[in-house]
Amino acid sequence: MPAVKALIIFSAALCLLPPAASAKNVRGDERNVFQSYYTPDYLLFKKSVMEEFSKASAGKFSEFVKYGRKDKDKSVDQKVLAFTFDACGGRHSGYNKKLIEYLRKEQIPATLFVTGIWIEKNKETFAELAKDPLFEIENHGLMHRLCSTEGKTMYGVHATRNLGDVIDEMELCARKIAQITGRRPIFFRSATAYSDELASKVAQRLGMEVVSYDILAGDALKASGKTMAKNILNGARHGAVVIMHFNHPELQEKEALEAAVPELRRRGYNFIKLEDFSMR
Ligand SMILES: [Zn+2]
Repeated sequence: MPAVKALIIFSAALCLLPPAASAKNVRGDERNVFQSYYTPDYLLFKKSVMEEFSKASAGKFSEFVKYGRKDKDKSVDQKVLAFTFDACGGRHSGYNKKLIEYLRKEQIPATLFVTGIWIEKNKETFAELAKDPLFEIENHGLMHRLCSTEGKTMYGVHATRNLGDVIDEMELCARKIAQITGRRPIFFRSATAYSDELASKVAQRLGMEVVSYDILAGDALKASGKTMAKNILNGARHGAVVIMHFNHPELQEKEALEAAVPELRRRGYNFIKLEDFSMR
């Protein structure tokens, strides 16, 4: 298997790591936590959205069903690059504090994709991150399920079973984030980054754009900081989105940035949040 292909597979698999062995019970507990979200108003809303899409077909299933930034204006002199970090949850509900501290020290804006289940396990940390204007909080799904309207999955990851589940995954996490932060997410990244075209349309209907990535840093491979830095530098180009994680304190994302950021700055890159693409 070519190295790049292997990297893609393993990297994707991180975000996407399937629920733990005992996941059935964990999922059950998580579901109970979120039971109160299914209010009569929400269920009516969900039903109306389902009716809108009742005759639509799932379409292509891919990591790149829609490039959220394709319509954005990149015709600027300034070179920009966006760092994005996912927090997946489940058995991977840690917090890479040293990475966040590095971003703050270097004043590097970043977009953080969080799940409802990660928020539940990191309430204080999440509130603190959400208050920091350096970070943009976006939606990684309520329970870190791969969003397929047909129940398709990749890498054995827990997936939505149907359109209704996709709406729950996107909308209930958006509402949860908005309730805590006062800002509703405008981007959605599915677990594994895979989803189908219909899920992408549903996201748009719910006011969010599906976002994938351009550069896999390789933290899923547990690559060294040096290797990840190399991957970032090799893939760097104007407008690129880097995908990494901030829920694995044992991994070397901070070390990767320490090695890559000075060189990126030397090449003239500025770092922006995803929401700032639309302002340029
Ligand atoms: Zn993830």
